[in-house]
Amino acid sequence: MTPRGWAVLTLAALVLALLVVGVLLVPWSRPPAPRSDQLAALRDLPADQVARGRALQAALRPGRYTGLAVGLVVALLLGLTPLGARLVELAGRPFGDHWIARAVLGGIAVVLVADLLTLPFAAWRQSVLTRYGLSTQGWGGWTVDLLKSYALSAVVAAVVLLGFYTVTRLAPRWWWAFGAAGAAGLVVLLSFVLPVLVEPVFNRFTPMAQGPLRTELTALAARDGVPVRDVLVADASRRTTAVNAYVSGLGPTRRVVVYDTLLREATPAEVTSVVAHELGHAKDRDVWTGTVTGALGAAAAVVALYLLGSWTPLLRRAGVDSIAEPRAFALLVALVTVVGLIAGPVQALMSRRVEARADAHAMALTGDPATFEAMQRRLAGVNLADPDPPRWAYLWSASHPSTVERMAAARAYAREAGR
Ligand SMILES: [Zn+2]
Repeated sequence: MTPRGWAVLTLAALVLALLVVGVLLVPWSRPPAPRSDQLAALRDLPADQVARGRALQAALRPGRYTGLAVGLVVALLLGLTPLGARLVELAGRPFGDHWIARAVLGGIAVVLVADLLTLPFAAWRQSVLTRYGLSTQGWGGWTVDLLKSYALSAVVAAVVLLGFYTVTRLAPRWWWAFGAAGAAGLVVLLSFVLPVLVEPVFNRFTPMAQGPLRTELTALAARDGVPVRDVLVADASRRTTAVNAYVSGLGPTRRVVVYDTLLREATPAEVTSVVAHELGHAKDRDVWTGTVTGALGAAAAVVALYLLGSWTPLLRRAGVDSIAEPRAFALLVALVTVVGLIAGPVQALMSRRVEARADAHAMALTGDPATFEAMQRRLAGVNLADPDPPRWAYLWSASHPSTVERMAAARAYAREAGR
């Protein structure tokens, strides 16, 4: 069989594996609470809170979607015309057109052009968040964060680009197989290593002070069978008034991280409720599910790109001879951008189901749906969420159930537990 034949077979196997993982590991049997319960929850929320959340989301929306559209147009313009190939050539010229310069500098240049053209939308978003009092960060701090994340992406991109184009040179017929394995490995690595490396770049963590809350959270984790090494407080207030908590690390390095804003805004019982939700993710191995899905998806994407990349009209449009050469990087980015837009809503749907399961876990662990509901109200109020967002926006990108869905789920849980 030819490499192309093997690629078709591999792609079929990967897609099948993705479907199996999606069906088996995502809790599909947990549909949202009835709409009538959600509307009842919405009526119980203070009208000014709902209005303020909706006003913020409406103010953010034009920038968000225009930015998305501009990013897409730039990616298509660079990838489906010879412009991207020319940009890569330009980046390699000072270095005698060496392939490494084209691969690394050219690749970073392509990504940077898209980043810079969408930068005004990121700045606009920051100005809206500041106007609504959600961001506590000045433009100086915002710029420093931006430069940090550019630097971080440039380092990751340089490693990936160099690795990828080394493989396409060494194995011109079979690069897709190594590329797929490499992409899957990279997803695993980024999902476990990156949080540990990246978190300290943006935030400072201090152990939570000894006291009843720390004791309660540690005991909660132990009772849940998810022992944690430490309970840390992140100095999120440097950047935002939004509240959050999460569990990161695996096994012996697992730790609970609570935003300092959460400690300031919420009652200890509510903090416990949030942490119980996060423990649910750890207990149900949601990070593993996400990582396995991501790794299979990345491998499938590489094989699909190889197959698409042998389509001559596409290559001719981009002015390149092969998808495997550095000059074709913009074409790769364009294809990945389109695939990402299609995959986004599917990912969001799976994420919402997983989040609903963590919510149920939190209520079962604390046995306190009333506090869970109170916490959801507070979360929506502090984070200025739209408690019941427009259906299309929800389906397009909501990673969590809406506030009214979560409140309705809490009421359903209380009803069932009381029976
Ligand atoms: Zn969650």
